[in-house]
Order: sequence, then C-alpha cells, then structure tokens
Amino acid sequence: MLTFFESEDNVRLAGLLFSLFLSTLFTIVGYMVAYQKRYNLISGYNRAPQSVKDQYDIEGLSKHLGDGLITLAVLLTISSVFFWFGLDSWMIGGMGLFTFITLIILIGTRKFMPPRRLLAQRSPSDAKHAFLYSVLPTRLNRAMEAGSRQWQQECRKCGHAQDYWEAGGVRWKAVGEPSQLALCEECGTLRWHKIRKKPEFRK
Ligand SMILES: [Zn+2]
Repeated sequence: MLTFFESEDNVRLAGLLFSLFLSTLFTIVGYMVAYQKRYNLISGYNRAPQSVKDQYDIEGLSKHLGDGLITLAVLLTISSVFFWFGLDSWMIGGMGLFTFITLIILIGTRKFMPPRRLLAQRSPSDAKHAFLYSVLPTRLNRAMEAGSRQWQQECRKCGHAQDYWEAGGVRWKAVGEPSQLALCEECGTLRWHKIRKKPEFRK
C-alpha cells in the first residue's frame, strides 16, 4: 500500500493546497497593511520608538509592502496551478519570478525609511539604537538601555562627560574601563574617551 506522499497526485495536491493557503495568508496580511492601516504588522516598524516611527513614510511603505504581498500571492497561486497541471518548468519559472520580485520589494522599502545619516543628526538617543529596537524584544532592549545608562564616556581632551546610551553606545553586563574613539559634543570632533561607570553606580 502506498503512503500518502508516494503518490504523485497527492504530492501535487498537497503542493497546491499549501500554496493556496500561503497565498490567502499573503493576501489577508497585504490587504490589512495596505488598506486597513495595520502598520504594526510591519516588522521593524512595530518595535521602533516613536521618534524613529515619525521619520518613516509609513503610508508609502505600507502601500508598497501590502501591494507587494498581494502581487506575490497572485504569482504563488499561478505557480501552484502550473504545478498542479504538471507544468513543472512553468512552475519553476514562476518561482524564479517570485524570488526576483521579493528582492525588488525589499530593496524598494528603503525609499520609505529614514536615511541613516538624517536619523543620526536628528536623533534623540532612541533613534541611535534603532537597529536594536528592530531586532530585540522590547523588554531586553529596556534592560540593555538601563545597563548602558550606568556608564558614561569622558572626553580625554576636555573632560566632557556624556551618558553612554545617549551617545549611542551599548554596554551591558560589562566590566573594565576601556578607551574608545567617539564624537565629543564639546570638542565637536572625534576624541579618545574613557568609558567609566557613573559615580553613583561605582562600588
Ligand atoms: Zn571633548
């Protein structure tokens, strides 16, 4: 007796159903993002602090991503129908196009996001850690912020001290007092800084 996946018809049926399921999911999410303003479905954006969110063209980005997902859903459906009818080379062509369009969509998102240089100029401390916000759970991020804020950087030239997190640094569960090149607000240029625990956190 044949098991389920030893029959070619069953494999093609499973492929078709799975693709239709994915397409439906893409279409629903795409529609919600593009037309229902469900911006928090966009990963990266959902965890960003407000100061960073304000610098996104979120309407443009959501339309771009939502329409992109719907386009991919259509393509996936067409490819799975090819697969169902045994037109394998057509199916492979469809999936190649699928990959290509995915890349175009991802590259296209940059147009709607804040340019890194502008982000650094305008940024409150949150914006300097935008990458952490986009990849880490909020609670871990807060812990890293609290840890980093126990430290300060002191300019070796002018003595100006700055909160390490505000300066864009991350120092968490660290020991020692290293020296680093960093931008000094007072000198207005790169200077060697001593990284030290703030007096109130020293033992
Ligand atoms: Zn200085």
